[in-house]
Amino acid sequence: MDCLFCRIIAGEIPSTKVYENDKVYAFRDINPQAPTHILIVPKQHLADASELKGENAAVAADIFAAAAEIAKSEGLTGGFRVVTNCGDDACQSVHHLHFHLLGGTKMAEKMS
Ligand code: 5GP
Ligand code: ZN
Repeated sequence: MDCLFCRIIAGEIPSTKVYENDKVYAFRDINPQAPTHILIVPKQHLADASELKGENAAVAADIFAAAAEIAKSEGLTGGFRVVTNCGDDACQSVHHLHFHLLGGTKMAEKMS
């Protein structure tokens, strides 16, 4: 298994877990870009958001349900941002689908 996030989900590499259910694992980003920066990942290995189709569509619902719960438990009452980088143009660096949950500050309007 050479996927970093599969190894984190399996507990082979340590992480600061903030949420887990049977479909989703979430942990704090090692290089936070906001006061709250959490990575939400499906336990199922998908490379990126381009694989979210057909039978995988439920993964997106699982991720966003987790995001709403995490935002509540993290006290993000002012709002939050969910971002997924897909492919080279978006600077995706880990090729296991993940969603950045960012919050705890007023973020820039510009997203690129
Ligand atoms: P990407 O650039 O692929 O959208 O996001 C990958 C994210 O994973 C980056 O924000 C990076 O800081 C984070 N990351 C990379 N390696 C590790 C790690 O070993 N542990 C944790 N917690 N985050 C990591
Ligand atoms: Zn993986």
